Amino acid sequence: MVIAIDGPAGAGKSTVAREVARVLGFTFLDSGAMYRCVALAALERRVEPGEPAAVSELARGLDIELEGPVVRLDGRDVGEAIREPEVTAAASRLSVHPEVREAMVARQRRMIESGDYVAEGRDIGTVVSPDAALKVFLTASEEERARRRSQQTKEPFEQVLTAIRARDERDSTRRHGALRAAEDAVELDTTGVPAEEVVERVVDLAIERGVA
Ligand code: C5P
Repeated sequence: MVIAIDGPAGAGKSTVAREVARVLGFTFLDSGAMYRCVALAALERRVEPGEPAAVSELARGLDIELEGPVVRLDGRDVGEAIREPEVTAAASRLSVHPEVREAMVARQRRMIESGDYVAEGRDIGTVVSPDAALKVFLTASEEERARRRSQQTKEPFEQVLTAIRARDERDSTRRHGALRAAEDAVELDTTGVPAEEVVERVVDLAIERGVA
């Protein structure tokens, strides 16, 4: 059983998906962490994120393990390293390549086929799991999303706002796996809404749909 939670950066996907997973006893899948692992490996090995052939070869060969909040790249704990701003920017750039997406989507499908998952990302409800039992699309105003991110990462607000705009633009306009709500997704605007309330709403939806 899959609950798909998609939306732009800073909409609250990770916080909400992690907590919904905990409440329902499902496994949490952070698909963005996988693109971030590819980005970290590319930066470390001096592979240019704009080079589709080189990045997709790299993406296919990496050992990426997600275990709860722990993220391992080739056996190494990279939970903090993948949140660095330069990794974020590189992940956004390399995730436009269809070959990279195919490699990640295949891995994500293998993971979710064996169990109950709350999976979050940009294309879970549209590409990774179009048959998901419940699809939620979280949004929030640009300013609120930038404010949340800047609190998390301690980067200046204006800098985060500019970076979020660039990421949203790339995510929304790419030809494969673009950021958009699935037709059957429930859209929730989280502007000014505390995370606990959003979690409650998603859990209620899961119960209504017989998912949990
Ligand atoms: O969600 P997060 O901010 O960790 O994602 C990092 C980057 O990975 C995003 O900017 C997006 O470009 C990419 N991504 C994606 N598809 C997903 C999840 C993340 O393209 N399902």
